[in-house]
Amino acid sequence: MPAYQMPDEKGYFGRYGGRFVPETLIPALEELTEAYLHYKHDPDFQRELNYYRITYAGRPTPLYYARNMSLALGHDIYLKREDLCHTGAHKINNALGQALLAKKMGKKRIIAETGAGQHGVATATACALFGLECEIYMGAEDMERQALNVFRMILLGAKVHAVKSGTATLKDATSEAIRDWVTNVRTTHYIIGSCVGPHPYPMMVRDFQAVIGEEAREQMLNYAGRLPDVVLASVGGGSNAIGIFYPFIEDEGVRLIGVEGGGKGLDTDQHAASLTAGEYGILHGSASLVLQTEDGQIRTTHSVSAGLDYPGSGPEHAYLKEIGRAEYVAVSDEEALSAFAWVARKEGIIPALECAHAFAYLVKLSAELPAGSIVLVNLSGRGDKDVNHVAQLIYDRADATSETPQTSSPG
Ligand SMILES: *Cc1c(COP(=O)(O)O)cnc(C)c1O
Repeated sequence: MPAYQMPDEKGYFGRYGGRFVPETLIPALEELTEAYLHYKHDPDFQRELNYYRITYAGRPTPLYYARNMSLALGHDIYLKREDLCHTGAHKINNALGQALLAKKMGKKRIIAETGAGQHGVATATACALFGLECEIYMGAEDMERQALNVFRMILLGAKVHAVKSGTATLKDATSEAIRDWVTNVRTTHYIIGSCVGPHPYPMMVRDFQAVIGEEAREQMLNYAGRLPDVVLASVGGGSNAIGIFYPFIEDEGVRLIGVEGGGKGLDTDQHAASLTAGEYGILHGSASLVLQTEDGQIRTTHSVSAGLDYPGSGPEHAYLKEIGRAEYVAVSDEEALSAFAWVARKEGIIPALECAHAFAYLVKLSAELPAGSIVLVNLSGRGDKDVNHVAQLIYDRADATSETPQTSSPG
């Protein structure tokens, strides 16, 4: 029996996790937990999910030996190519799993919240595939900034609700989605987009994303002949990181490192590094490490990468940090932006800004590792969605200094 079995029956990872939600939602969470545990062990469900992973999402994704990067850094760098998944990132792994589960549970309506729109697009995609009704809550402010993703969701047949309350961003969209769920819980499943929220979500999202690490572990043994020394992944809510970490948790020699959005620096209040710099608190239905003020108000956050710009992280990450099994660090916007350009030039792969953070840390870490170490990096998504934003940042800067636009590059 494996030594690592988390969470416990109540959904706790040590002192993190649990269910901090209105009483009216408890029966729905119980029903979901029961259904999930049933289908997790149902070979027919697993076979069907696997069928869609292979024929629809494009799994298994390749493990790529990044030769140019390896030569530059003096280590063997392997990339897990989640950027090659249908819709361009790992988020589809979770959306497919939860949408299929909802269908089995007889729920015909799906709701979700989305910030930058990536989770909304993945959810709308899975709903189109399975013929489910789809309604997405999105802050009005975010809808303006992410107009293209809003159009994608509409094309895919989803209804997008503009949330105008509060700051009109992700936090408010989440509150609206919860309100909808409380009202329509009999017919509706709520697809949460990362390993956050009340039990069973952190466990369920981890399990649906663990396919990343299961494949990567086997691929490492096949191609490199041994396990990596280090596994690196970016952490927003933490789903791509826990997905690649989980199958390595009992491999004691493998260092697991999560890289957060350090924004303008941890000495400012403009960052999103909840595991590196946060405290014990409650956010979106569970206990974890969160960014909050002294009187317990959730702080506003900043990251150049929308997917990392979230004031908390999944409870399992807080636990892995506490027991010393995983390490968490942060890199700044600037460092991530130069890594973004560096990866593109070195390997011909434009990474998502989220995983550019992991690459920025890879460059730093390389200086400390014994020569010839093996590092596995989760390339969680492609950067096409970020190109406009990065171009704007570079041109704005060039305007300010009246220089020719350039991107710097480390190493
Ligand atoms: C959403 C997103 C992330 C951050 O979310 P996690 O739940 O922490 O994985 C990271 N990378 C990409 C490409 C994303 O779209």
